[in-house]
Amino acid sequence: MDPLEWVDDELERLERDDLLRTLPLPLRSAGTIANVGGRQLINFASNDYLGLAADERLIAAAAEACREQGVGRGASPLICGRAECHARLEQRLAEFERTEAALLFPSGFAANAGVIPALAGEGDAIYSDAKNHASIVDGCRLSRAKCHIYPHADAHALEQLFQDGDHYRRRLIVTDTLFSMDGDLAPLVELGELAERYNAMLLVDEAHATGVFGRRGRGIVEHLSAQQPRLHEQVHVRVGTLSKALGAAGGFVCGKASLVAWLANRARTYVFSTAQPAAASAAALAALDIVESEPWRRSRLLENASRLRQRLRELGWNLAQSASQIIPLIIGSPAETMRLAKALREQGLWVGSIRPPSVPANESLLRIGLSAAHTDEMREVLVNVLQANAALQPTP
Ligand code: PMP
Repeated sequence: MDPLEWVDDELERLERDDLLRTLPLPLRSAGTIANVGGRQLINFASNDYLGLAADERLIAAAAEACREQGVGRGASPLICGRAECHARLEQRLAEFERTEAALLFPSGFAANAGVIPALAGEGDAIYSDAKNHASIVDGCRLSRAKCHIYPHADAHALEQLFQDGDHYRRRLIVTDTLFSMDGDLAPLVELGELAERYNAMLLVDEAHATGVFGRRGRGIVEHLSAQQPRLHEQVHVRVGTLSKALGAAGGFVCGKASLVAWLANRARTYVFSTAQPAAASAAALAALDIVESEPWRRSRLLENASRLRQRLRELGWNLAQSASQIIPLIIGSPAETMRLAKALREQGLWVGSIRPPSVPANESLLRIGLSAAHTDEMREVLVNVLQANAALQPTP
């Protein structure tokens, strides 16, 4: 008897339910054209929102850091892995986010998985949006705090939960600022006010918003500060990633210096994981310069996203509440989602197919990730193909 026999049964079950993931053919490089199995597809599946992942300036910075500081760091940051460009990037991120300090993590996932359990534990309560990213969900699970999941973007329901229980030692609200699958925004102004009123900590994950939203590209907190100038102070912990608009890899947390000192002691994914390669930090430093010096990237992206959403809604596609460069086509069943993804691929387009457990059952979708690097012609092809395939939409 093979004790792993159950794995084959489970894989068969996933296949029967149209939920099996198979490893895609590897891509040679980042960019808006994906060479997949000898075919050129326009890539709308990526999070390279500003088109920086293959930018020559990032490549040069990474190559130079490799030559000067080596490839692997050889140890966790607290032992001897912290490189000169980690220190520079932490300083730069703190300035960029206008906080006292910042701390680098191996990835955005590791940041959430480490920071949340460092902030809340037994006797505490966490309040988490129903559509938060898996890394937040796992951070909550690891924390041993009492986890309350409030309905998506519903600040009213969250307040109700606060009123129902005040016997906790500490309370922590956690939310994506820009939701990774639906492309809609968290009600941060309301969440900031609730955090203040109930003396709760507020942690926001700006993974998809950094570099894209806000006048200086700092994300949704900056974007909404026009409505609520106190929002900056009401948000206590900012998590971000270097892997999306910044075109590199790694995660970070920003906040007060004492918070960062605490996380360096208690966030297990910081303490017990090898420091990120210096090349990734150097590339992120170059990307931050570009975010500041080339604001046209984010304004072009958001203008194009707005026009694209309007065109697709006119064609009858259900885009949920998308208000960003992340544009979902809500389909419902995994089988129909895969069928449509295949049809689009045959017509030269690559979009992400998102099925459970990434989304709840019956909420499968195709995810369009727009980039500043997509040309007008590429977006036109997308619209034309979706117009031609409008019959494949689910009937309401
Ligand atoms: N938070 C959110 C909201 C995300 O969407 C993601 C990545 N999909 C992460 C965190 C994880 O970031 P990373 O890819 O850097 O691990």
